[in-house]
Amino acid sequence: MALDDTREKSLSFTPMVIEDTMRNGRGLSDQWADTVVVRPRTTERHITVHKRLVLAFAISILTLIVVTVIAVLLSVKSEECNADSTASASHGNLTKFNQSRDALFNHRGEDSFQPWRQLRLPGSLRPLQYDLHITVFMDNFTFSGEVSIELQCLNSTKYVVLHADRLAVQKAVVYSEGKKTRALKIHRHFRYPANQVFVIAMHRELEPQKNYKVNITFQAHIEDELLGFFRSSYVLYGEKRNLAVTQFSPTHARKAFPCLDEPIYKATFKISIKHESTYLSLSNMPVEASISEEDGWVTEYFSRTPRMSTYYLAWAVCNFTFKETVTDSGITIRLYARPDAIQRGSGDYALHITKRLLGFYEDYFKVKYSLPKLDLLAVPKHPYAAMENWGLSVFVEQKILLDPGVSSISYLMDVTMVIVHEICHQWFGDLVTPVWWEDVWLKEGFAHFFEFLGADFLFPDWHMEKQRFLTDVLHEVMLLDGLASSHPISQEVLKATDIDRVFDWIAYKKGAALIRMLANVMGQPVFQMGLNDYLITHMYGNAGRDDLWNKFSEAMQKEGRDINIKEVMDLWTLQMGYPVVTITKNDSVDNSVTISQEHFIFDIKDSAPSNSSSQWQIPLTISVGNSSHISPESIIWVSNRTESHKIGSVDDGSWLLGNINQTGYFRVNYDLRNWRLLIEQLMRNPEVISVGNRAGLIDDVFNLARAGYLPQNIPLEIVRYLSQEKEFLPWHAASRVLYHLDKLLDRTEEYSIFSEYILKQVASMYHKLGWPTSAVNGSVAQATYQTEELRREVIMLACSFGSKHCHQQAITLISEWISSNKNRIPPNVRDIVYCTGVSLMDEDVWEFIWMKFHSSTAISEKKVLLEALTCSDNTFLLNRLLNLSLSSDLVPDQDVIDVIIHVGRNPHGRHLAWKNFREKWDILNTRYGEALFINSKLINGVTEFLNTEAELNELKDFIQTNGGGAAAAFARAVEIVEANVRWHSLFEEEFFQWLRKSPTS
Ligand SMILES: [Zn+2]
Repeated sequence: MALDDTREKSLSFTPMVIEDTMRNGRGLSDQWADTVVVRPRTTERHITVHKRLVLAFAISILTLIVVTVIAVLLSVKSEECNADSTASASHGNLTKFNQSRDALFNHRGEDSFQPWRQLRLPGSLRPLQYDLHITVFMDNFTFSGEVSIELQCLNSTKYVVLHADRLAVQKAVVYSEGKKTRALKIHRHFRYPANQVFVIAMHRELEPQKNYKVNITFQAHIEDELLGFFRSSYVLYGEKRNLAVTQFSPTHARKAFPCLDEPIYKATFKISIKHESTYLSLSNMPVEASISEEDGWVTEYFSRTPRMSTYYLAWAVCNFTFKETVTDSGITIRLYARPDAIQRGSGDYALHITKRLLGFYEDYFKVKYSLPKLDLLAVPKHPYAAMENWGLSVFVEQKILLDPGVSSISYLMDVTMVIVHEICHQWFGDLVTPVWWEDVWLKEGFAHFFEFLGADFLFPDWHMEKQRFLTDVLHEVMLLDGLASSHPISQEVLKATDIDRVFDWIAYKKGAALIRMLANVMGQPVFQMGLNDYLITHMYGNAGRDDLWNKFSEAMQKEGRDINIKEVMDLWTLQMGYPVVTITKNDSVDNSVTISQEHFIFDIKDSAPSNSSSQWQIPLTISVGNSSHISPESIIWVSNRTESHKIGSVDDGSWLLGNINQTGYFRVNYDLRNWRLLIEQLMRNPEVISVGNRAGLIDDVFNLARAGYLPQNIPLEIVRYLSQEKEFLPWHAASRVLYHLDKLLDRTEEYSIFSEYILKQVASMYHKLGWPTSAVNGSVAQATYQTEELRREVIMLACSFGSKHCHQQAITLISEWISSNKNRIPPNVRDIVYCTGVSLMDEDVWEFIWMKFHSSTAISEKKVLLEALTCSDNTFLLNRLLNLSLSSDLVPDQDVIDVIIHVGRNPHGRHLAWKNFREKWDILNTRYGEALFINSKLINGVTEFLNTEAELNELKDFIQTNGGGAAAAFARAVEIVEANVRWHSLFEEEFFQWLRKSPTS
């Protein structure tokens, strides 16, 4: 599953004029994602009552029985309110009483004691195969279904417990299978909505080692929310068209049919769908037979799936068209989308790269793609960027359709990464599935990591894994994971409501960062060998993280390297946060260095050292360098709090550099003397240090200073080398950290000292690179990625920090567009130009962009236009935009949140967005509250740059009255705003003091 906004590259800064100075920064991707309070590991809460204890506490037990009876009597009413039970109430009570007594006196019997009350399925039955027939009524958005589940009984039980939610069950029959199939007597059946289960209580116990068949007929609505089997619509040639599609991950298959809806219960599925013949239907497998009926209906029979988990099942009913291609190994790939998009060729790019990617993964994993076909379905609405259903992956249109000539490189990259991610899941997820949701990071971390390997395969010049991974994944997640409100990557998941929370940036990005660290320690061939073994061993089954660590350890052993991967990785996955490693050169003559580790945390109160007891086993690589040469790195495993190591020869002028190419998931700090030597090196000849390390030094130095580990002038000194920097990545790292500082400072009195200082560092490269030439018939794929992205980054910084030349250029381009009504602005800088224009020019430009937003059909362009509208410094217009977004359907639903967040990034709109957020919270929470992910994006997006004491108090007050629903997101918001406020009180003066004296200001 790919979360939306994986890479927010579209503009999120607002140029503004204060004292004739323009300011803004570059889009830092959202630092949000949910955290879950860390709970202790599960403890079995089974009651074990020793016989002697029973005697000794007979009276207590008797009292307990009486209390239990009363409690049961009271609970029966609510529990059975939805039950279509035939049993009499008194009989039911008696049964329950007997069971509760059994549970107290005979703890062996407690497995069968009201298993529907447990958060997980009882495990006495296991599904082997499902036959599911669905009839879809698109005219009134309902469907009816009939499911037949073949179950194997593992432990004797009286209860068949299935997941079912929002389904009206009409009939349930249980058959015993064997020599002769016969219907068994059912005592009663009922729903237990609290755990979303449907229970069939049998008259007699089902026996172990025997197979049974459960047949259930049911009816339900095609949902108007984006889960289960849901509907959406689009307009084709002025006419509204409907479609219906499924989203079952993580726990919504139960909204479409009764099933054992936990990933471990893999089974095979044979699906058939009946619908009006004006529609077509799709599912995981190809159509085996299609039978038309006279009345204009058709039934499509899909072939049986391999063993798979319920949440990867999918189907769709729509009237889309498709394009197709066939891989060398004979797999048919089809892209289905609305007919106008197919006709325009918007799906061609996705189809083309999917074909290549299937080959890439088959080679890398040495495991063939398992199904005969792969459909990619582009839908107008979806809760996530995409979902990797096996053989039928569903994408929101913005993440798969691409119009060459209009789309920017960023958009192309975005689409590419989402597709690479979903295709990876066909192996990591679909074929081998995590045992339970606590290891969701395993599949998501892998898919996220492979986004970069897959993109490198498609576009070797992009150097995604070596470069872009650092800024987009590593630097990004270290911001989040440096908070005290973070959580370990493997999180315990008990309730269904906890499950949505594990799909967060920590799972995706930290997962990917840890896997990359491990892959680098192991070396690519050994890593690949381990993966192959893991996939082969667990294909069509489930596996947990220990299974993977074992395979990796085995692979290492085969190479003669004895590392207990589990021991190392448990420290990284079960503890939250990450270390900062400090390397200090000793004064002694023996070339020794002291290496220490501590838990890096932004939340330093009164600069006291962190009192966290966390420790890691850190694969630290160190190089020694001087003006022209850097030593080959050597790996040191650091596992103690402080260690002393001997390093090659270190003379007075040599510097030390740790975490070579930033492959490790930690920060590195040095003594001040070493920092000075590194800065001198960068000023003199940056290329001695690798591109990845240059970006890493920038990110580390700014964040170390932000958290109080370093004086504030060190980051300001390091950016002076940027005029020498010719590569994109360090610029990108710099613009991200500068953006953050910019937002901290953009309402301070001395802001202009800061912006002028930064502009000075940017100016020479800006003038050297110039602007891209207008696109004639510019295909994005033809542009050289590195050059174009570097140019874009520098232009963005120049316009943000007030370059008059940059502003004039933007105004000229917009004016030309308005007067000629032909848009010749190169796609790659459109967001910068639009935003700068809206901010500097008069209201007519805002109106012009608003009009273009409505008339534009290209999805990528629409988003850029909408975001530009948030750049105005006219609060009246910003208010109008917020009102239009919240109260009309002029702004698409999925973009409303982006509008609010982007207005909040604009210093002129920050207060307005924050005010609107509080006033409209009820509406927003009703509309998006269900989708926890969207909700926390909004909360953290709106509050991220609040930085005054007054705003912090407003936030706390607001949470007191409204914060119940999204506790984790609000806890994080408070921590971030507190850190912002604290930075001002502790460091702002020190920061400006240096700038005032700085020779360049
Ligand atoms: Zn995913």
